[in-house]
Amino acid sequence: MVAGLDEKLEPIFQDVLRRNPGETEFHQAVREVLETLGPVLVKYPELAEQKIIQRICEPERQIIFRVPWQDDRGQIQINRAFRVEFNSALGPYKGGMRFHPSVYLGIIKFLGFEQIFKNALTGLPIGGGKGGSDFDPKGKSDAEIMRFCQSLMTELYRHIGEHTDVPAGDIGVGGREIGYLFGQYKRITNRYESGVLTGKGLNWGGSRARTEATGYGAIFFLEEMLKVRGDSIEGKTCVVSGSGNVAIYAIEKAQALGARVIACSDSNGVVVDQDGIDLALLKQIKEVERRRLSAYVQERTGATYLENGCIWTVPCQIALPCATQNELTAKDAQSLVRNGCIAVAEGANMPTTPEGIHVLMDAGIAFGPGKAANAGGVATSALEMQQNASRDSWSFEYTEQRLKEIMVNIHRNCYETSEEFDSKGNYVVGANIAGFLKVGHAMAALGLV
Ligand code: GLU
Repeated sequence: MVAGLDEKLEPIFQDVLRRNPGETEFHQAVREVLETLGPVLVKYPELAEQKIIQRICEPERQIIFRVPWQDDRGQIQINRAFRVEFNSALGPYKGGMRFHPSVYLGIIKFLGFEQIFKNALTGLPIGGGKGGSDFDPKGKSDAEIMRFCQSLMTELYRHIGEHTDVPAGDIGVGGREIGYLFGQYKRITNRYESGVLTGKGLNWGGSRARTEATGYGAIFFLEEMLKVRGDSIEGKTCVVSGSGNVAIYAIEKAQALGARVIACSDSNGVVVDQDGIDLALLKQIKEVERRRLSAYVQERTGATYLENGCIWTVPCQIALPCATQNELTAKDAQSLVRNGCIAVAEGANMPTTPEGIHVLMDAGIAFGPGKAANAGGVATSALEMQQNASRDSWSFEYTEQRLKEIMVNIHRNCYETSEEFDSKGNYVVGANIAGFLKVGHAMAALGLV
C-alpha cells in the first residue's frame, strides 16, 4: 500500500508517466516526492502558479552518446552513455557517474532527480545531475577500463566544466576511473581544471575524507536519528548490505562508534560474521584485490557465506542498505520488524521500495531516506570543489568535522520541516519538503528559465 496523491499533483504525475514511458525507477522517485508535496502547495501557492513541480520533473538537458572502445582481444565494443543535467538553480549540475549493465535512461533520471533534492539539503551551492553507462566493469582489465573511460570522456568533455557540470563516482566508478577520466579531460582541453570532477586522488586535487564520506555521513545521520529517540549506536547489532565504497566506510564508522556489524553482502551472497566484520580483511579483498565477497570466508573460518542469501533475514537492531535501488522490499522490511530492528538509514540511493518504507514507518522504525542520509558523499564533493577553487588542501580532521556538521544540519532541517508539516519524525516528508523548498524558491527567483 502506498499513499495516494493530492488532486493537484495526480495530473502532474500522470504527465510524467506519459512523457517518460518505461522509466519505472524515475516514476518511483518522482511519485515518492510528489506524495509529500500536497501541503507545500497549500502553503506556497506561488510555487504551484510558477509550475515549479512540473519544471523540476523535466531535466534541463539530457545527453545520450555512443562510447566505442576496443577490448584486450582487439574486438570492438559499443556502449551507451548518459549525462542528465537535471537542475542548475542552486549551482553547477553535480552528481556521479554509474557504470553498471543495468544502466538506462530511467536509472540515470531517477538518480538525477534524487540528486536535486539531496544536493539542496547539503546547503552547498550545487545543482543536480547524474550520468553513467551500461558498461560492465566486472572482469575488465585496467587497460580496458582506461580505454573505455578515455572514449567516454572524448565526448563528455564538451558538456562539463567546473562552473557547468561536475561529475564524480557512483556504482562502478571510483578513484581509478576518475583518474582516467580526469587525465583525458586534461589532455583534450589542455587545462588543469581540478574542479571539473570530484573523487580525485589525494595527490592530484582530491579531498581527504571523500572516499569515506558517504558511509561516514550515513552513520552521522543515523546517530542524530537515534539521539532524538534518546538512544545511540553504541553496542547495537548492525547489518550493512553491499561491500563497496559506501558499505565499507559505513562499517568503519559504525565500528568506531561501538556498534557490532555482523553482516555485509555483494550481488552473489551474504557474509555473516558474529565476531564482527574484519574490516581490514574486507578492504583487502574489495579495495586491493577487487575480488568477490565469498573470498572473505576462506580467510575467516568463523564466518558463514550464504550464497544468494538475503541479508535482511539476519537479525539486527540497525539496518543500513548500502548496495543499490530497490534492494529492501516489503517482505524484507517485515523480517526486519519481526527481528526487532529500530532504525534504517539508507546509504544507497532509493534502496527501499515504497511498500518497504511503508512497513518500516508503520512499525515506528526510525527511517532515514537516502537523499538525506547519504548526502555526505556529494557534500564532501562540494568541499573538494571549494578546496580546488582556492587551490587549498584541508586536513582529514577538518574535512570530517565539516562533513559531520553538514549531516547534523541536514538532520535538523529534515526533522524541523517534518514538525512544521505535521509529520514529526517522518524524515521522508522532511527531506522532500526541505529540499524542494530550497530549489523551488531559487527557481522562482531566477524567472522562467
Ligand atoms: N554518487 C554519489 C551520490 O549518489 C556522489 C555524487 C557526487 O559526489 O557528486 O550522491
